[in-house]
Amino acid sequence: MTNNKLHMTIQDTIFGKIIRREIPANIVYEDDLALAFTDINPQAPVHILVIPKKPIPKLAEAEPDDQALLGHLLLTAQRVATQAGLTNGYRVVINTGDDGGQTVYHLHLHILGGRHMAWPPG
Ligand code: AMP
Repeated sequence: MTNNKLHMTIQDTIFGKIIRREIPANIVYEDDLALAFTDINPQAPVHILVIPKKPIPKLAEAEPDDQALLGHLLLTAQRVATQAGLTNGYRVVINTGDDGGQTVYHLHLHILGGRHMAWPPG
């Protein structure tokens, strides 16, 4: 696979299409580095996804150069949760790889709130 083809493959997730506005999404926050939109199959009264615009496939493939971006995603999750009124707490989840239950290979943070979360997760 050439680098160019690899790049195209990584870009071509459903989240890449949302970033490029090729498919619709309920976008609740955007800046130069990140996008947040509501999950199409919500698992809680509030379920928002925060993604980097850079197409990192999964947390396991993030690199030292991504340190500031990863911090930005967490602070974006905090901002979006506050904006959503989650004053009583919320959960932030990153599913990584097959055993982690990841289905879309573009790094994303789930923000879940509006109900009490059980532990351990399934
Ligand atoms: P994960 O299983 O951690 O990879 O999470 C992927 C999430 O993306 C799931 O919660 C899906 O419901 C959500 N999802 C998939 N397609 C869309 C879409 N077009 N718009 C919003 N959320 C989506």
